[in-house]
Amino acid sequence: MQNAIFYARIDFMIQWHEGLSLGVKAIDDDHKKLLNIINTLSDAIKDGNTQEVIDKTFKDLQKYVLEHFHREEALLKKCNYEDIKEHMAQHREFGKKIPELMTKLADVKNSANAQEVSYFLTDWLFNHIIEEDIPTISIYEQHGLTKQKMSNKKSFISKITKKTIENFSFTKRIFLSAIIPLLGMLLFGTIILFNNLTKYMNMKKTSTITQIVSSVDKVVHDMQMERGLSIGHVTCSDGKFKETLRRQKLSLNISIKKFQEKIKEPDIKHISVIEPYIKRFQADILSLKKLRDKIDAKEITQDEAIYSYTQIIKNILNITPKVAFLNYDREISSNIATLSSLQHLKESLGQQRAYAIMLIEKNGGSIDEYLHFAKLDGTQRAFFETFKQSASPLEQGEYNLIISSDIAKKIDDYKQSIYLREFDSLDSQVWFDSVTELINEIKIFEESLLFKINSLVEASINDSIVNLLLWLFFATTILIITLSMLYTFRTSTKYQIHQLTDAMKDLAKGGRSLRLSPININRDELAVMYDAYETTRQKLLKGDIYTQLYLNKKELEIESQQKQNVELQEMAYIDPLTGTMNRRKFDELSQIELERSNRYKSELSFLLLDIDHFKKINDTYGHDAGDEVLKHFSSICLSMARSLDIVARIGGEEFVVMLRETDSDGALIFAERFRETISNSVVNHDGKSIKYTLSIGISSRQDDDKDVKAILQRADKALYGAKNSGRNRSIIY
Ligand code: GH3
Ligand code: MG
Ligand code: MG
Repeated sequence: MQNAIFYARIDFMIQWHEGLSLGVKAIDDDHKKLLNIINTLSDAIKDGNTQEVIDKTFKDLQKYVLEHFHREEALLKKCNYEDIKEHMAQHREFGKKIPELMTKLADVKNSANAQEVSYFLTDWLFNHIIEEDIPTISIYEQHGLTKQKMSNKKSFISKITKKTIENFSFTKRIFLSAIIPLLGMLLFGTIILFNNLTKYMNMKKTSTITQIVSSVDKVVHDMQMERGLSIGHVTCSDGKFKETLRRQKLSLNISIKKFQEKIKEPDIKHISVIEPYIKRFQADILSLKKLRDKIDAKEITQDEAIYSYTQIIKNILNITPKVAFLNYDREISSNIATLSSLQHLKESLGQQRAYAIMLIEKNGGSIDEYLHFAKLDGTQRAFFETFKQSASPLEQGEYNLIISSDIAKKIDDYKQSIYLREFDSLDSQVWFDSVTELINEIKIFEESLLFKINSLVEASINDSIVNLLLWLFFATTILIITLSMLYTFRTSTKYQIHQLTDAMKDLAKGGRSLRLSPININRDELAVMYDAYETTRQKLLKGDIYTQLYLNKKELEIESQQKQNVELQEMAYIDPLTGTMNRRKFDELSQIELERSNRYKSELSFLLLDIDHFKKINDTYGHDAGDEVLKHFSSICLSMARSLDIVARIGGEEFVVMLRETDSDGALIFAERFRETISNSVVNHDGKSIKYTLSIGISSRQDDDKDVKAILQRADKALYGAKNSGRNRSIIY
């Protein structure tokens, strides 16, 4: 217990912190126990326990640390931890440190060393947990060795969230969240665009086909005329239709030629819906020449002639309704339907024109021929009904005007007469011209319809182009805006996150000066993260300052402790009043020196000094003045002595000076110089000047001197002589 004073106070009880837990019970328990033992050791040092107790605690610690290492390494091996070798190496580092710690602890008198051991152990334990063990948590988690904090039941959304986090980086998630809807929109737009394009293509086709329809019309019209005239030619014996027929043939040839040129155009060639009809038409044209020859030679019946022409015309007339299938536009479709019904009306009128010529010329015909004629009236009514279904009121009105015209009435009168078989007043030429006039009227009406269809198609094509351009403009704009917004957003977010990451890395490295202020005033998630960083930084800064203060305080404490220890040690051999060596130490050192001097036969002298009439000084000036004289005496003596000499106080006002490597003559010189200095000086005390003298006895080492005592006895005798011979002098024994 006598050493207690040498131990500094150590307030080092460290509490366990839950943040140090790994979640693996065995290891956490070990760490807690180790902290406990370290605390106990610190306590033992603090309380100044005996070396035994301290040694025992340290042994406990050493044993438990090794047990813990063993347990930890076994667990890590079980989990196939990759960096196990490195981890074990760190453990061995601690093992190497143990002998050093033990030597430090063994020197119980050195409190600083004991403290250092205590600090080291605490520091080591926390480093071991934070730097070595906490990074292994994930491997324990993978093997299910940790306590599961979260429940295993997870909602669908949280499962999706987990999957997303695992598979896509943060910036990728931002990118995808904008690009997926954008792509969806573009896909949708492309479908619309495709529709538009199809419509455009169809309109283009429609436009082409209407051109064909108009040339078809011309061919049909001419062929219908030729059919009527041919019947007239075959039936009439006077040849009155011959010349008109010849001219009509030329006219038809021209329209056929034009039509064939038209259908040779590349964009028409490839329209599949009308292809079979065109092919048929080509074949029909080839057979037309034979038909004409037969008619010229009148080697054909009227019925056969009408039938042959009608077949060709029917085929061509089939082209028009096909156009309607290509259209999405209702108005265009219904106009084409109207056009088609008008074409058929015209055709049936054309057939009637031919039949009537035959009936008039022959002044009547067979039942079959009459039936054909009558059937055509029915056909006309049927097509008129079809016409009414698709035609607009305006178109119906226009048609009504045609069929209620004088020429139509004249035709009706003719038909009436034919049915009544009153042929006398009828002229086949007049009939032919009248029907032709009516057909021409209808043809004009038809052309206006075609014109209308053409303009509608043109408008539709223009619409499609405008839509297309609008869509392209819209899609490009949206794409550019979205991508640039996305880029800006991504860059800004990335910038903020990088800034935060850099700041946190700096924080981890020990930097405390990076202050982050949120750029945006909205309290968004990043701003909250910035705030959290800032709070952490301030807390750490505060912690650092406190740690610094604490360490400074500790250092100061240790310093003052060490100073105190030095003082205490000095006190053991220094006389407090005069600062000279005390008797005990002098005895020890002088004896060693004598032995050394005897060994080397070197000179060694001792002076014994005694202040003269010191009692009188005490009596005259007081005890304090006496003390002052003693301090004056010793300070001058110490200053005059060499560093290898020893000045010691061996009695009240008795001093001894040991002079190494000095014989009696040298000693006398020193003695006289010192004595004279003292006798010439004055001590000022309490306004009084005190003068004093001293007497000195000198003795040097002799070969048979075994201890210092003998030499000092001789010096004492010399001193006695000096006192007796009047004081204030030096005498060699
Ligand atoms: P002499 O010349 O024969 O030596 O005469 P003296 O008066 O010096 O005689 P002595 O050596 O017998 O006296 C020693 C005195 O010193 C006795 C004591 O009161 C005084 N003394 C001893 N230690 C101290 C001290 O520490 N301080 C003071 N002031 N006086 C002391
Ligand atoms: Mg004296
Ligand atoms: Mg004395």
